[in-house]
Amino acid sequence: MHDFQYRQGELYCEDVPLSRIAKEVGTPCYVYSHHTLVRHFRVYDGAFGNLPHIVAFAMKANSNLAVLRLMAKEGSGVDIVSGGELFRALKAGVPASKIVFAGVGKKPDEIRDALKAEILMFNVESSAELRAINDVAASMDVKSRVALRINPDIDPQTHPYISTGLKKSKFGIAADRALEEFKVAEAFSHIEVVGLHAHIGSQLTEVSPFVEALKKVLTMVQTLTEQGIPIRYINIGGGLGITYSNETPPEPKDLADAIAPLVRDLKCVLIMEPGRVIVGNAGVLLTKVLYTKDGEGKRFLIVDAAMNDLIRPSLYDAYHDIRPLYESVTHAPKKTVDVVGPVCESGDFLAKDRVMPDMNAGDLMAVMSAGAYGFVMSSNYNSRPRVAEVLVHEGQIHVIRSRETNDDLVRGEQIPAFLL
Ligand SMILES: *Cc1c(COP(=O)(O)O)cnc(C)c1O
Repeated sequence: MHDFQYRQGELYCEDVPLSRIAKEVGTPCYVYSHHTLVRHFRVYDGAFGNLPHIVAFAMKANSNLAVLRLMAKEGSGVDIVSGGELFRALKAGVPASKIVFAGVGKKPDEIRDALKAEILMFNVESSAELRAINDVAASMDVKSRVALRINPDIDPQTHPYISTGLKKSKFGIAADRALEEFKVAEAFSHIEVVGLHAHIGSQLTEVSPFVEALKKVLTMVQTLTEQGIPIRYINIGGGLGITYSNETPPEPKDLADAIAPLVRDLKCVLIMEPGRVIVGNAGVLLTKVLYTKDGEGKRFLIVDAAMNDLIRPSLYDAYHDIRPLYESVTHAPKKTVDVVGPVCESGDFLAKDRVMPDMNAGDLMAVMSAGAYGFVMSSNYNSRPRVAEVLVHEGQIHVIRSRETNDDLVRGEQIPAFLL
C-alpha cells in the first residue's frame, strides 16, 4: 500500500495533489510520501516482532538525507557500500552502532573512516579484503568486527544484473571455502569475526530463495560453533521485491514467518538490509509531456524526464507504471506509445510499446514506483541538471533536494592556464 491515489479525479500524494507540486517545484521531480516511508519501515520492522533484530536500510536505494533521518528516527540502521554513504549516514544521524558496511572494493581510507566512527561491522567479501581491514585496524590499534559474506550459490530468479548470490557472481565467499576463510580471519590479530552474511539478489518475489540461503548459512553457523567460533549476528541481506506491474511478492510478514522459526533458538541477532521494499513504492517521478511525435507506425510521447533521471528502464528493461495526473486522461482512447526523454540515445525511454491512454503536450504524468534506485542512479549526462526531490508530510511540500543549476554542472571544473 502506498499513498499515491486518485481523489476527485486527480492523482494525490497523501493530501497533496501532484499537480500542485508540479506547479510549485516544476518538473521533472521526485516525490516521496513520508507516510508511506514510515509505514513501510514499520511493517517490515514489526514483522520480525520481538526476535532480536536490526533493520539496516540499504541506503543505496535512496540516500537523501531527509529519508535517512526519518529512517533513523524510526530506529533503522543502514547498510552502506562506500565512504560517501558513511558520511551521509552519520550526517543524517544514523547511530554508528547500527551501520554495516558491504561491498567488494572497500578502500583503506573508507575502512579507516568506518573504524573511526565505530560502525557495527564490515561485511567482508574476500580474504584480501580481510587482510586490508586487519592492516588498517592494526595501524589504529583497534579490533574490527566483521561478518563474512557467504555466496550460497542460489538463483534468486531475478534480473541477472541484480542477482548476486550465484557462484559466478563477484559477491561473497564461496560457501565451500567459507570455513577456511573463517580460520584465516580468526588468525588476524585485529579482526573479530562476529557474523555471517548472505544477500542473494534484489526484487525477489518468492520466499524460498531466502530460506534456502539461510539454511546454508545456518549449516555454516553450526560448523563454526563446533569449531569454537561463536556467531552472534546473522545477516540475511535485503532483496524483497515490490509490485511494479503484476508481481505478487511476499509480504515482510511472510518472510519473517518463514525465517523466524529457523533462527529463534539461536542466540543471534538477525540483521536485515531491505532497500527497495521500503522506498520503492513510496516515490514517483513527476514529468510533463513536451511533444508528441508520430513516427513510422509508432507514437512517441517526449517527456521532460530522461534516462539520466531514471535509468532503470534503460539499464534493466524495468517496467514502471505510468499514470496521468488527471483521471479524465485515463479515459482517453488507449494507444501504443513509447515514452521517451530528450537524451540523445536510443536507449532513452521510460516505457516502450506501452498501451496507455494517449496524452498530449503539457499533460503531466507520474512514473510510479520510482523511490528506489531512482534519483540515486541519476546523472548529469547531456549536461542535464539533476532534478529536485520532494517529501510530502502532513499536507506540506518539502523540497529535500533542490534542482541543480547550470553552475552546479560545472562545479569543480577548471580550464588550465595554457588554454586561457
Ligand atoms: C543492494 C543490497 C541490498 C538491498 O537490496 P534491495 O533489493 O533493495 O532490498 C541489501 N544488501 C546488500 C549487500 C546489497 O548489495
